[in-house]
Amino acid sequence: MSHRPIYLDSHSTTPMDERVLEAMLPYFTERFGNPSSLSHAYGWEAETAVRQARQILADAIHATPEEIVFTSGATEANNLVIKGVAEAYFSKGRHIITVETEHHAVLDPCRYLQTLGFEVTFLPVQQDGLINLVELEQAIRADTILVSVMAANNEIGVLHPLAEIGAICRQHQVLFHTDAAQAIGKMSIDVQAMRIDLMSLTAHKVYGPKGIGSLYVRRRHPRVQLAPQIQGGGQERGMRSGTLYTPQIVGFAKAVELGIQEQESDSQRLLQLRQRLWNAISPLGGIHLNGHPERRLSGNLNISVEGVDGSALLLGLQSVVAVSSGSACSSVNLAPSHVLLALGHSQQLAHASVRFGIGRFNTAVEIDQVAQQVITTINCLRQAHSAVFQVV
Ligand SMILES: *Cc1c(COP(=O)(O)O)cnc(C)c1O
Repeated sequence: MSHRPIYLDSHSTTPMDERVLEAMLPYFTERFGNPSSLSHAYGWEAETAVRQARQILADAIHATPEEIVFTSGATEANNLVIKGVAEAYFSKGRHIITVETEHHAVLDPCRYLQTLGFEVTFLPVQQDGLINLVELEQAIRADTILVSVMAANNEIGVLHPLAEIGAICRQHQVLFHTDAAQAIGKMSIDVQAMRIDLMSLTAHKVYGPKGIGSLYVRRRHPRVQLAPQIQGGGQERGMRSGTLYTPQIVGFAKAVELGIQEQESDSQRLLQLRQRLWNAISPLGGIHLNGHPERRLSGNLNISVEGVDGSALLLGLQSVVAVSSGSACSSVNLAPSHVLLALGHSQQLAHASVRFGIGRFNTAVEIDQVAQQVITTINCLRQAHSAVFQVV
C-alpha cells in the first residue's frame, strides 16, 4: 500500500476495532439466520445475538431493551425522530426547537417540516458554542412538541448540558431528543437521570461498523409516540421495518461495550494527546481554539488560523495528515462551516479552520509529526502572504 497520511479525522468516522470485527465475523457466514425466523435454529441463533446486543446497548444508556430501535445510523434515527414526532403530535402542536449548530441530519429534516407548515426555532449559540439555557426555556411555547439538542458537536466537540436541558423540557412537558452520535462510548449517558426521551446513536464513530445505529424511544413517563418512516414487515415494534442486520448489530454492541469499558483510560490518553498538539501549535500566535476549552470531547481540537487562506492550509497539510476543515460536507462544497459562522467568526477565520479528531489508535509520535507539519505550513503561508504585501 502506498504511504498514507496520519488519520486525525475521527469525527467523520473511525477505523473498526479488531475486537469488533472478531465478534461480527461468525454472523456473516455460519450464523446467517434471519432473527425474525422463529421456527428454526438458524433464526434462534441470530435472534439470541440480536437480543444480547440490544441488552448491552440498553444497559449502556440505562434504558430497557424494548426502547432500542435499530436503524441504519444516526441520519436515519434523526429523520425518524423529527418526522415521526411531527406526524404523531401535529394535533398537539407544530413547533420544534433546535440549534443552529446541529448536524445536517437534524437541520435538514427540520427545514423540510417548515415547508409542510411546521414552525422551527433555530437557537443561536454563544461564542463558546453552547446554547443559553434561559433562551431555550423562553423559546418553549404551548404548541412546542420537540426540543432537539445534540450531545456532542461533530465539528467543535462541545458538550451540551443534557441533564439541564432534560430538566427544562420535562418541566414544560416537551419531548427532548438528543443526537448522541459523537458522544456514545466516550462519556456516560443516562437517559433516566438526564430525562432524555429520544436519542440517536451510530456505531461508526466509536470504532464500530458503518451502516448501523439506533434510536432510543422512551416507553414510560412519558410513552413516546412515533410515526414510522419505513413500513413493511413490522420489525422493531413497527417503528422501523426491514430485516435486522445481525453482524452490524453485534458489532455495534461490541463497540459501545468496549467504549464504555475503556472510557476512562481512552479519554485520559486522548486529552493528553490533544494538549500535546495544542501546546506545540499555539505558540505560533494568531491561533483560535473553536468551542469551549473544557466542555468538549477529549479527542477534539478545532482551530482557526489568522493570516492564511483556508484551502492553502488544507493543501499544505494533506500529504501528512488527514483532517477536515469544518464538517466533512462543507469541505466538499467549500462553503465555510455553518458551525463556525454561528460562533460569530469572520468568513476568513471560519474558512481557515482545521478540525483534528484524535482517536483510540493515534500515538504521541504521530501527534508530534502532525504538529511539525502544521507549524511549517502556517509559517510558510504567512511568509508568502507578507511577501506579497511587501511587493504591493
Ligand atoms: C456522523 C454524525 C451523524 C450521521 O451519522 P450516520 O450514522 O453516519 O448517519 C449525525 N449526527 C452527528 C452529530 C454525527 O456526528
